[in-house]
Amino acid sequence: MPWYRKLHWQIIIGLVLGLIWGLISTQAGFNQFTSDFIRPFGTIFVNMLQMIAIPLVLASLVVGVTKLNDITKLSRMGGKTIGIYMVTTVLAITIGLISVNLIQPGKALPEETRIELLESYQENVADREQTAEQALERGPLQPLVDIVPQNLIQSMSSNSNMLQVVFLAILLGIGLIQIDRKKSDLLVNMFDGFNDVIIKIVDYIMLLAPYGVFALLAAVIIDLAGDDLGRAVDLLFALGWYSIAVLAGLIAHMSLVYMGLFKIFSNMSLKNFFKGIRPAMLLGFSTSSSAATLPVTMERVEKNLGVEEEVASFVLPVGATINMDGTSLYQAVAAVFIAQAVGMDLSIAQQLTIVLTATLASIGTAGVPGAGIIMLVIVLNSVQVPVEGIALILGVDRILDMCRTAVNITGDAAVSVVIASTEGKLSQGHFDD
Ligand code: ASP
Repeated sequence: MPWYRKLHWQIIIGLVLGLIWGLISTQAGFNQFTSDFIRPFGTIFVNMLQMIAIPLVLASLVVGVTKLNDITKLSRMGGKTIGIYMVTTVLAITIGLISVNLIQPGKALPEETRIELLESYQENVADREQTAEQALERGPLQPLVDIVPQNLIQSMSSNSNMLQVVFLAILLGIGLIQIDRKKSDLLVNMFDGFNDVIIKIVDYIMLLAPYGVFALLAAVIIDLAGDDLGRAVDLLFALGWYSIAVLAGLIAHMSLVYMGLFKIFSNMSLKNFFKGIRPAMLLGFSTSSSAATLPVTMERVEKNLGVEEEVASFVLPVGATINMDGTSLYQAVAAVFIAQAVGMDLSIAQQLTIVLTATLASIGTAGVPGAGIIMLVIVLNSVQVPVEGIALILGVDRILDMCRTAVNITGDAAVSVVIASTEGKLSQGHFDD
């Protein structure tokens, strides 16, 4: 197959053309046109992905659990999954802290830029503060309560209820193993067929991915640059060291932690892993949403990395909801950056507090664009860094969101490979497209 027919290259071409179109738009005054006639195709693409996430998780997890045939395997897998997710999150935060302490981006921020940023983004901070406060007011066990739906249909009515759907699917699957085979076969076959249909639909949606990505990128650029591209570029330079601290941390995390995991627990090479997962990473980058990318992550992990369905259908939806390595790393860097910029030196004890709160904040972060910066308020509060400091980083947040989302997705996929390998459920992958 010629290189340009490969899916990831097509997505990259869509991405670059979207970027170029966005830039031309802002320069030539086509922003309204782009917003009216190009942006909607990006929205349609993301909607299509979101539309199939819940049915996909439900059908594939029910089928997955019935294949396990033994419920103790499920609880062992659950324990391992949560454990590894926690360890990788703490490692991500530690890497973020090392990166920001070495690079010290807050100290490099010029005084005038700091004042200008604080003034111009002040209004946007208030909304985020309010949302984070609402999250804080909930009791410590509320996340557990939230997993159990009051109403079966309602739980399937919103993608933010993914853990409820996981809960429901596991119960259904367990129930199906226990009842008379004659009766369960019918339902299991139905879910199996439904699952295959949804996977077919994912294939159709992926045919649209290059166009969807083009539209998404063009829209991101016109939003970022507005009418003044020069100012956006200045902002990027002013916050250059901060962005480098985040990006260096993300790259270090992906190469060190995932390589370490593969070395210890499986014999998959990092190269093959990235070959298999790259279209999902590119979609995560373009959509800034791990929840919207979930169907593609599931498909790539199963078809290309060789993770069996019973593992992927459990580990990935849980990961898309609670495991955010990229987000937690970014929250650590951002908190210390803001502290440095306002002249506060954080002690070791305070940095350890960041490890704890960023772990919790990233678990609470939804897999949607911009959710990470809302939960950052919780991290800042825990070490008494002024929340207004968020204004300093808002300007580049969308770009960093794209990068951290790609890492969030990669983290979920890496852990699914590890769990599959330790459970004997990793078959030969077809790494390339
Ligand atoms: N956009 C990220 C995600 O969907 C969450 C964040 O804002 O950090 O994974």
